[in-house]
Amino acid sequence: MKTVAPNKFTKPELLAPAGDLEKLKVAIIYGADAVFIGGKEFSLRARASNFTIDDIKTGVEFAHKHNAKVYVTTNIIAHNENIEGLKDYLTALDEAGVDAIICADPYIISTAKSLNLRMEIHISTQQSITNSEAVNFWYDFGASRVVLARELSIAEIAQIRQKTKAELEVFIHGGMCVSYSGRCTLSNNMTDRDANRGGCAHSCRWNYRLYNKNNELLSKENSFYNLGSKDLMAVKYIPDLIRAGVDSLKIEGRMKTVHYIATVVGVYRKLIDDFIEDPDNFQMSDFYVEEIAKAESRLTSVGALSGKPTYQEQLYNVRSETPTQEFLGLVLDYDAKTQLATIEQRNHFKPGVEVEVYGPHMRKEYAVIDAIYDESFNLLDAARHPRQILKIKLPFKVEPYDLIRKVR
Ligand code: SF4
Repeated sequence: MKTVAPNKFTKPELLAPAGDLEKLKVAIIYGADAVFIGGKEFSLRARASNFTIDDIKTGVEFAHKHNAKVYVTTNIIAHNENIEGLKDYLTALDEAGVDAIICADPYIISTAKSLNLRMEIHISTQQSITNSEAVNFWYDFGASRVVLARELSIAEIAQIRQKTKAELEVFIHGGMCVSYSGRCTLSNNMTDRDANRGGCAHSCRWNYRLYNKNNELLSKENSFYNLGSKDLMAVKYIPDLIRAGVDSLKIEGRMKTVHYIATVVGVYRKLIDDFIEDPDNFQMSDFYVEEIAKAESRLTSVGALSGKPTYQEQLYNVRSETPTQEFLGLVLDYDAKTQLATIEQRNHFKPGVEVEVYGPHMRKEYAVIDAIYDESFNLLDAARHPRQILKIKLPFKVEPYDLIRKVR
């Protein structure tokens, strides 16, 4: 349930992506109020969509137990060959306890409405909604929420807010589509994968050479041109988005890792809570961006939030960047008597490494790993096998889903 702070700003929902059940749990434990997931059918990001109906039921149970919501994307632009089985699928989602579906195709939206389902209808950003009349059209049709187009500025979002009762959801972080929210056939033409049916191959982010009409190479011999845009990071605009009355702040990235989800969700959770607690004295600091850089440091921009994007938002050269901290393992359990933490390995490490243990509410503690054991308590010289179950000594209590990361 949303809370209204004494200063009258409504605390917005923090909405996080989840590509599988583990990520769903991590997103919620680290502070997401809601998660969006993809099922096996009717969803974009087909490769990220590995939730069966049973998985969805399990995810919904976990989320509701933690007062969080689950939204399921059914946002393909369907061809006739895709629409069979839609009614059964939507009914199954409803019976699984899903809180809302996110859809773009009018047939899917009208079918959901005609079934009189309990779950709400959210209109996907694939509908490219950029004005209040379009928002109200879908609200009057029965949708409770509209995910606004990523091409809007905060000033435009604030104007729309004044003219609609619909809930408004806005992207605040993650990958951007350089076309108008997926209205692009680059991927279709280059790889035969339909961007609007979950198959986008991100062809805009490939390496290209630039030639003029005389076939003369304009780009430098060893450098490439990229058609994509920088990722979105709206940290500095969160107070403005809350003041504008946005209902839901959305992080993109169902293909991202557990480390990314925990870090980005943890940072935005803290940022929103810090602002709501005392808006008049809130000070934006570099801390939030520095924390996000521990999990990912791709080039970022504020997209269209500050107005018309310029060349600054374009990703001209592909630059490989590395996070400032490396994810070594996920905590599964802790034995207070022996001070041994059971973890699942995620990256190679050796005894002697200094680690930061990172948990919900941005809890952090530091230690040096002096010994690594396998499940049978054999001493190991290195943790080298992906997802191997290991035991390490930690002089403080840790919790399941805490992250062990290397201090660089
Ligand atoms: S290829 Fe790039 S521009 Fe086209 S839909 Fe995919 S992300 Fe968007």
